[in-house]
Amino acid sequence: MSIISEIFLSGHYWLKNVHIPLCLLDKSHFTPDTREGLCRVDLEIVQEKISSIVLSDSTVIENTFIDLKGGIIFPGFVDIHTHLDKSHICERSPNLDGTFDTAITTLRKDVQAFWQPEDVYARMEFSLKCSYAHGTTAIRTHLDSFGRQADLVFEVFKRLQTQWQDKIILQAVCLVSLDYFLTDEGVILADKVAEYGGILGGVAYMNPYLEKQLNQVFTLAKERNLSLDFHVDENNDFNSVCLHKIAEIAIKHEFSNQIICSHCCSLAVQSQEIINRTIKLVKQAKIGVVSLPMCNLYLQDRASNKTPYWRGITKVHEFKKQGIPIIFASDNCRDPFFGFGDHDGLEVFKESVRIAHLDTPYSDWCSSVTKTPATLMGLSSIGRISIGLNADLILFKARYFSELLSRPQSDRIVLRRGKPINTNLPDYAELDNLVLVNKDYNKSVQVGISR
Ligand SMILES: [Zn+2]
Repeated sequence: MSIISEIFLSGHYWLKNVHIPLCLLDKSHFTPDTREGLCRVDLEIVQEKISSIVLSDSTVIENTFIDLKGGIIFPGFVDIHTHLDKSHICERSPNLDGTFDTAITTLRKDVQAFWQPEDVYARMEFSLKCSYAHGTTAIRTHLDSFGRQADLVFEVFKRLQTQWQDKIILQAVCLVSLDYFLTDEGVILADKVAEYGGILGGVAYMNPYLEKQLNQVFTLAKERNLSLDFHVDENNDFNSVCLHKIAEIAIKHEFSNQIICSHCCSLAVQSQEIINRTIKLVKQAKIGVVSLPMCNLYLQDRASNKTPYWRGITKVHEFKKQGIPIIFASDNCRDPFFGFGDHDGLEVFKESVRIAHLDTPYSDWCSSVTKTPATLMGLSSIGRISIGLNADLILFKARYFSELLSRPQSDRIVLRRGKPINTNLPDYAELDNLVLVNKDYNKSVQVGISR
């Protein structure tokens, strides 16, 4: 065992000379010493928890310590928007033209052909292994929930939630189109979500009955004391104003539980007048906005033989300016909606910084993959670095954001309750035994797409 490993396992040690973003600390005690808002501090870890945080060199440290030489420390990542049930199906069900419509038809065929409990379980667990190794402490996943599908995915989710409870906090949101909630089955689904302690969710589309659908969803949520989580305006249609409608209905219902709206892409192509009006309503309704830059950059503005122009992200800077919580998250992972990804919070943050220009200045944007999603998920003891909290930390060699976001940081150390975990990622071959690639099925998908 190396000396550093012995120190980590000693139960009482200091992490010396670390850089922590001011926004992830108790601000009243510290001032940043870099232009990027990083504070140089020493952290004391005692019996799995952070027991003190002091300015570097302000105390004489007598206990064992590890000098991190300015390396950045993050709290564990919090991934508020994923689709673990769909993850890792892209090899057996590839999206051959990369469009949103093909993603939907391809997924439907995959569900019919393959979604048995053991298949869904294996892929979801593989995603959890990736997330955990990267340093994630909490995940919210949407679960495709039409008809009897809900029984399958919620049952698998529950098993994983229990088995992983010491490693990753898991939350589930049902995913259906909102018209479903006007049916008896939709009401049964709302009951199921309540039974599983989940969040009521769905995809809002512009349609003549949207207001009626939203009224029903808010009523079902209020009756069962549920929070809400919507997929909204994931398109570049100028007329798509579901976010606006949701905010209006939330205000009308005086809804007091948390509301999350994800994507909100169409806002970026609307007039300044509509943008201003919608942002004002979103603020009034206390809605948190989630942007999924990797997935949206992949899907939006895609057409064959055409170079994409539009980035697909929503108005993150404008929302933030009004004090509306902005979060970035993984979304899909190696499925027809996004052919890449590994549920790595650092990759999400890195890509978000580059795609949405979050580096001028960095401000408190790193909260958007840590503290802000934790707060909106009702988890006040993770996603931040404070005295008394578990030492669930990610230690990077990188000393500045430019170093942090220029390399994959594969050599990061992930501490859980003060001790390093195994950060080896699961082997993709693990999926081979459990998720069979069906050559005949692939053929049928290709025929379907070429229609
Ligand atoms: Zn999604």
